[in-house]
Amino acid sequence: MRFAVGTSGEIILFEEPVLDHLSAHRQTRFWHREAGGLLFARIEDKTIRVVEATGPRPTDRRSRFGYAADRAAEQAEIDARHPLGLHYVGDWHSHPERWPTPSGRDVETMASRVLESRHELGGILFAIIGTAPLPDGLTVVVHDGKAWHRLGLDATGIDVSG
Ligand SMILES: [Zn+2]
Repeated sequence: MRFAVGTSGEIILFEEPVLDHLSAHRQTRFWHREAGGLLFARIEDKTIRVVEATGPRPTDRRSRFGYAADRAAEQAEIDARHPLGLHYVGDWHSHPERWPTPSGRDVETMASRVLESRHELGGILFAIIGTAPLPDGLTVVVHDGKAWHRLGLDATGIDVSG
């Protein structure tokens, strides 16, 4: 799936294995708990190719309406991938709703992530996976440190498989 970042000319591409990973953690049953992890991308000019989604980890604290990531494990994931040219570009997590929207707490988390991380993007990516099948169940937003913006699917619709 391709997303256009406003009028910047930047394209965010979610590769198939990443979409499969997120899809596998949709909270389609009431006993399913929230899951989440990090998103890693290869950055080529204006194309941000999201090639890996990590998590959930056994050490995350998870419930139906929230989760707290194991921050030490996250940092280890970032440190291990950086030498391979895989850049930490954002986070993903699941929501027990069909078409997910960021909660108040999500917005706070996004803002703090932008400030504490050094990344190549102008902002940080947040992918929230709801219970509806893709593409409707996936909400992708970018937070630039001031506000968040929901990304729309790239109208060209090409290269969906990456
Ligand atoms: Zn959330």
